Amino acid sequence: ASSAEESDVVVIGGGPGGYVAAIKAAQLGLKTTCIEKRGALGGTCLNVGCIPSKALLHSSHMYHEAKSSFAHHGVKFSNLEVDLPAMMSQKDKAVAGLTKGIEGLFKKNKVEYVKGFGKLVSPSEVSVDLVDGGSTIVKGKNIIVATGSDVKSLPGVTIDEKKIVSSTGALALSEIPKKLVVIGAGYIGLEMGSVWNRLGSEVTVVEFAPDIVPSMDGEIRKQFQRMLEKQKMKFMLKTKVVGVDTSGSGVKLTVEPAAGGEQTIIDADIVLVSAGRVPYTAGIGLDAIGVETDKGGRILVDKRFMTNVKGVYAIGDAIPGPMLAHKAEEDGVACVEFIAGKEGHVDYDTVPGVVYTHPEVASVGKTEEQVKASGVAYQVGKFPLLANSRAKAIDDAEGMVKVISEKETDRILGVHIMSPGAGEIIHEAVLALQYGASSEDIARTCHAHPTVSEALKEACMQTYDKAIHM
Ligand code: FAD
Repeated sequence: ASSAEESDVVVIGGGPGGYVAAIKAAQLGLKTTCIEKRGALGGTCLNVGCIPSKALLHSSHMYHEAKSSFAHHGVKFSNLEVDLPAMMSQKDKAVAGLTKGIEGLFKKNKVEYVKGFGKLVSPSEVSVDLVDGGSTIVKGKNIIVATGSDVKSLPGVTIDEKKIVSSTGALALSEIPKKLVVIGAGYIGLEMGSVWNRLGSEVTVVEFAPDIVPSMDGEIRKQFQRMLEKQKMKFMLKTKVVGVDTSGSGVKLTVEPAAGGEQTIIDADIVLVSAGRVPYTAGIGLDAIGVETDKGGRILVDKRFMTNVKGVYAIGDAIPGPMLAHKAEEDGVACVEFIAGKEGHVDYDTVPGVVYTHPEVASVGKTEEQVKASGVAYQVGKFPLLANSRAKAIDDAEGMVKVISEKETDRILGVHIMSPGAGEIIHEAVLALQYGASSEDIARTCHAHPTVSEALKEACMQTYDKAIHM
């Protein structure tokens, strides 16, 4: 069978890159088809990533607050327990509602939705093995590959999603593990580690590198690690996993120093492998039509998101760049604008990054280490949350704001925030960077009182003058 009419745009993958590209294409008047294999729209982000993880982070935070902070605020009760199935079901409901929402948006914008596994057979044809059986050929003048990414496995550590889980399994455990070992101290490992730590697991994070979240500003990272340790998470840095034994009731992990040395065995009930993600680009026909990828399997594209094969484009986690949902969305919109004959643009220097622990850690622009390495003369403004009235009022004053600006012009180069709500506050800095603002521009902008955002204003004051409240 083959779909009767040719589309202007065919998108393979219905994640934040693909579904946003499809909706935007339709809004620009292009006849659009989106092919998705998982039977639900929203991709990794909505089904097994950003959204379910934030649901569990919120639920577990509420439990943790109730257990450890409520009494201090004068709110007392006698019985507190975790109902894990209820927690999971609230998460699942949120996911189901949102995936249905995208289906609704497809209908509203007249995007044709094909459920199945798509494979490029020519630069203008995709063969689809349909979820409901059978196959079809979908034809398009332009094809966008938005197949996203998958969990990276570790040699010798087989993910069974029971005792050795990926982030997907860690989002759906049926019991709270007594001991959880997380392999990899990136943001996904730390977020999932935080969820189970708050619910009562003993969490040990094993990391090969000398630091957690390597992309983070060094000073913020140090505070961040200290804060996680205060929350009782344990870290084994510069450590590699060399063996896994699942023959007993739990898991025995053999680890040794990254540089080699004495081995130790750690016991775990569950091991979470969160050592990164890899682009999902094998087995989708790229070789057959000659699309170039790099060594890591990422599809190479030009500034217009076009691959070396005319008419075939790629976006999101499947191409180089930060593997983030909002980056994939920006790629999708810009790619489709180019296809529609307009100008598209993504500023990769102003893509924010957020770790949704508590407090959150958010950043945009360069770290101090990067600015130093670039040789530009700079100044740093810092403000501790301890001196912020709102943070003190709500007794949530762990963290700091750090602003780095160019010495000569005071133009903001990077902003790093560890605070409650940092993932929201950071957008003030994103906008400032986008508009080429100076740190003084933020400092002279009236901020509502009392807000945690005032800590950003005061950190900005510190770059060229003095903060008031310090
Ligand atoms: P994906 O979301 O991976 O979507 C690709 C889709 O294509 C998938 O649905 C897949 O089924 C489909 N597909 C693949 N091949 C085919 C094929 N041949 N035919 C048909 N369909 C196909 N990012 C953030 O920005 N913020 C966060 O808080 C965040 N948290 C995360 C937490 C976890 C646990 C994980 C795993 C990831 C998280 N991410 C987060 C990353 C984010 O999920 C990804 O960056 C984002 O989903 C990438 O979007 P994408 O559209 O490129 O790919």
